[in-house]
Amino acid sequence: MKVRYTRSVDGIPSIPEDQREEIRRVSARFPFRANDYYLSLVDWSDPEDPIRRLVVPDPAEMLEGGRLDASNEAAHTVAKGVQHKYPSTVLLLVNEVCGAYCRYCFRKRLFMDGNDETSLDVIEGLAYIRERPWITNVLLTGGDPLLLGTRRLLEIVEGVRSIPHVGIIRIGSKMPAFNPWRILDDPELLEGLSRFSTPRGRIYLMAHFDHPRELTEPAMEAMDRLLRAGVVAVNQCPLVRGINDDPETLAELFRRLSFIGVPPYYLFQGRPTAGNVPFQVPIAEGWRIFEAARSRVSGLAKRARFCMSHETGKVQIVGMDDARIYMRYHRSRDPADDGRFLVFRRDDAALWLDDLVPWEERGPGPARDLGEPTWAGSA
Ligand code: SF4
Repeated sequence: MKVRYTRSVDGIPSIPEDQREEIRRVSARFPFRANDYYLSLVDWSDPEDPIRRLVVPDPAEMLEGGRLDASNEAAHTVAKGVQHKYPSTVLLLVNEVCGAYCRYCFRKRLFMDGNDETSLDVIEGLAYIRERPWITNVLLTGGDPLLLGTRRLLEIVEGVRSIPHVGIIRIGSKMPAFNPWRILDDPELLEGLSRFSTPRGRIYLMAHFDHPRELTEPAMEAMDRLLRAGVVAVNQCPLVRGINDDPETLAELFRRLSFIGVPPYYLFQGRPTAGNVPFQVPIAEGWRIFEAARSRVSGLAKRARFCMSHETGKVQIVGMDDARIYMRYHRSRDPADDGRFLVFRRDDAALWLDDLVPWEERGPGPARDLGEPTWAGSA
């Protein structure tokens, strides 16, 4: 099926005229892109509709707060379009376009004028990986790699697969949600992925479904074709205010993903990215939502970790009590931090690791009298 893309809100008749000017103003700063299929999933009678919220600009995006590169990806960019933060994993940013633009995107800087961080040319990236035998995982990302032409994408995959020490090739994509026909209508893509997803090293599709309503029949069919092609699939998504910040919505998402063989892998704490103020959920509230969602689903559906992609590493939120929030480095930039357990004074307004005060540095205040931490389970 041919899906039509639009970069102008003027092409969406369902947006009331009196809202257009403000939406245009937002999209002049943070670009808008969507397509007719995804917009057809919106319930336009509901101004708070989560699918609408995911792609239609919100005037509150203009509120000040955050940085464009909230996790300081620049610090571990080793060449144009090549990021290396953890020893075993390299990211190749191969594209600067997506099937639609998520309003809460943490890499929205890529879509803005003047950005030049991605590289379709992966020669340098492949040489970098080839020279470092400890790199076993390569993530193709962007933007969305499935927006590349099939031949180009498969050339890149073939190039990575030719490096003997790379076991896993990951493709981060929201195309199964934004345009499932990118997969359904392309047997060459499926055949190619099948060829390079081998018994000794699989291709993983890191899917990005945020809301159960994105799991339409075509989207589920697209995931099925990928699985049948020998691709392993998991899902990762951020916790987003007004989209999935509700235990039942999240539980339903986890449940249905487990039904179709795409287990939830990460739920991310939203990064404090410029333009994302209306989408942020405090860490403590996020933990409660995550735990409540997990309590409603089976073991296979509750495999996600609630993590924060911080500049220093991937920090998993593992528990909370009346006085403290407990975390642990799941991955760390500095090997000395690997697995390190962290205890912070509980602050229900904190949105990011940097907002929290370590327990041992706590100053005068009520939390002082609550004793030393003895337990790190869930609240
Ligand atoms: S699909 Fe990913 S990279 Fe693209 S806009 Fe959404 S969050 Fe950003």
